[in-house]
Amino acid sequence: MLLKKQKMNSTIIRTDRLCYDYAKGVNTLTNINLQVNRGDIYGFLGPNGSGKTTTLSLLLGLLKNQRGTIEILGKDMQHHRQEILCKVGSLIENPSLYNHLTAKENLEVYREVYGASKSRLHEVLKIVGLNETGKKTVKQFSLGMRQRLSLALALLPKPELLMLDEPTNGLDPAGIMELRSLIGRLREIEGITFLISSHILSEVEKIVNRVGIIYKGRMRFQGSLEELHRLQQQQSLVHLDTSDNLRAWAVLKQLQAELTEHDLVVPYTDIQQVAAINKMLVDNDLDVYNLHPHKQTLETIFMNLTND
Ligand code: ADP
Repeated sequence: MLLKKQKMNSTIIRTDRLCYDYAKGVNTLTNINLQVNRGDIYGFLGPNGSGKTTTLSLLLGLLKNQRGTIEILGKDMQHHRQEILCKVGSLIENPSLYNHLTAKENLEVYREVYGASKSRLHEVLKIVGLNETGKKTVKQFSLGMRQRLSLALALLPKPELLMLDEPTNGLDPAGIMELRSLIGRLREIEGITFLISSHILSEVEKIVNRVGIIYKGRMRFQGSLEELHRLQQQQSLVHLDTSDNLRAWAVLKQLQAELTEHDLVVPYTDIQQVAAINKMLVDNDLDVYNLHPHKQTLETIFMNLTND
């Protein structure tokens, strides 16, 4: 039982002060400390050009790391590259699918390369929902279907970890929903840990449990989705205007109220607290002319974290 628990809590990816420069003097990645735990669906987020693909390329050994260390599945990447990569699947560049072949035929091409069994081939076709496409060739597939076939390819060797680079790119809302539910199913059925990069928080927010936010090659935030939500609550503000803002500020000082030129700004966590603020002012004989709670969205938190 203890062993099982330890396994569940184990770290799958850990980087320590990972740095990368494509050109001398241009820091593409600076001191990236990424931590992905077993069973996580980790959302690696940041605007385009932040360094997500570079990080994934380093994790997959497609680029050679220059400074810092990478540990995957408890092993050091530098010394155990092959051993690690056998257990890792990825969707980082568009894999070469054969347009004139069916889904099954495409998988058959890769099956032997990966040393996968025929039954595994049928299993993955079913998991990604392409087991009934029959004679339809890839050139007749929608983008979503191609995406799922690419995932099926990555699933053939039964990976413990899957890294997906911007998997929602180009998908329509239905395709995004399909992909989300497929990722959830894969975590359940196959126990796969996911690292998913995206530049759009809302597209992955519904499935991830942990988040890393990168901007200009530096990690701006890493933690659970709950921690990101807490940050969101801490940063929600109520704007107030009263008959005497200076006196109102003195009343609300203990709540970290700030007096601006036009109004009074007080952080709040829930709407009951806004009501309590109003009551405090009224109880102190202050007239409240205006009270405007402004709840931060996760999107604005994301925007604030990915700004200079
Ligand atoms: P993201 O995946 O977040 O969009 P990338 O990792 O692709 O970001 O890019 C990070 C930075 O590195 C960008 O400034 C990009 O222009 C630069 N970059 C990416 N690939 C190369 C390359 N092959 N040569 C030089 N610079 C690159």
